[in-house]
Amino acid sequence: MNGIAAAMEVSLDRQIQARLEAVRARIEAAARRAGRPAGAVRLMAVTKTFPRAVVEAALRGGLRLFGENRVQEAVDKYRGLPEPVELHLIGHLQRNKAKAAASTFTCVQSIDKLETALALDRFCRAGGRSMDILLEVNTSGEESKSGFRSEGDLLAALDGIRSETRLTVRGLMTVGPFTREPDPIRRAFVRLRELSERLRGRYPDLPLDTLSMGMSGDFEAAVEEGATLVRLGTALFGSRPAAGEEGMR
Ligand SMILES: *Cc1c(COP(=O)(O)O)cnc(C)c1O
Repeated sequence: MNGIAAAMEVSLDRQIQARLEAVRARIEAAARRAGRPAGAVRLMAVTKTFPRAVVEAALRGGLRLFGENRVQEAVDKYRGLPEPVELHLIGHLQRNKAKAAASTFTCVQSIDKLETALALDRFCRAGGRSMDILLEVNTSGEESKSGFRSEGDLLAALDGIRSETRLTVRGLMTVGPFTREPDPIRRAFVRLRELSERLRGRYPDLPLDTLSMGMSGDFEAAVEEGATLVRLGTALFGSRPAAGEEGMR
C-alpha cells in the first residue's frame, strides 16, 4: 500500500470510529430512557452502495453484523473477507435470486411471501444448511413498501413456513414510514412490537426474539419501542449517492 492509500485508510477508520461511538451513545441513551439494557440492541452496519473498503474499515472498527439490499452486490462485496461476518439480506428477495441468497446470507430479513420462503428453503435443503429469517411487515401502509400488509396473510405464511421448512422464523422486520414526523414513525414501531407479542403468545415454541426496526433517521424511537436490532447506513458511513437510496448502483 502506498502512503496516500494508507493515510486514506486511517482517516476512514477514524471517521467510522467517531460515528460508531456517537451512535452507540445514542442507542444506550434511548435504551436507558425505556428502561432496557443497551446490550439488548444489536447494531447492524448497512453497507449498500458503499464500496468494500468501507466494509473492511467497519470490520477493523469491530463491527460484525452487516446488511445489504441486493443479492449480487452482497456476493461481490463480501467474498473472502479477512474475518467471518454475519450478513443479512434486508432488501426485497426475488425468487430467481433465492439460490444465491441461500449461500450468501446468514439471515433473510425481508420475507414477505410464503413462496419466497419456500424457494429459499429448497436451496437451503440442497446445500444441507438451515437459515434464520424474519418476516417483513408493512407497518406504514405506504404503497411503495414491501412486507405483509395483513396479520391474516402473515399468520398463514408463518404456519406454512413452520411446518414445511428448515427455516427458523426469528421475528419481524419493518421499515418505518417515509416522514420526519415522529408520531407516525413511533406508531409503526409500536405496531410491530405488538404484533410480535401476539405471535409470541400464539407460537410459544418459536424463538421469536428479533425485532428489526430503526434506521439512521429513526433508530432512537425504535429502541425506545423495543427494537432488538437497528439497521444503520448513513449514520455510520455518511450519505449515499442519491440514486443509491433503493440500492441501485
Ligand atoms: C438502506 C436501508 C437501511 C439503512 O438506511 P440508513 O437510513 O442509511 O440508515 C436500513 N434498512 C433497510 C431495509 C434499508 O434499505
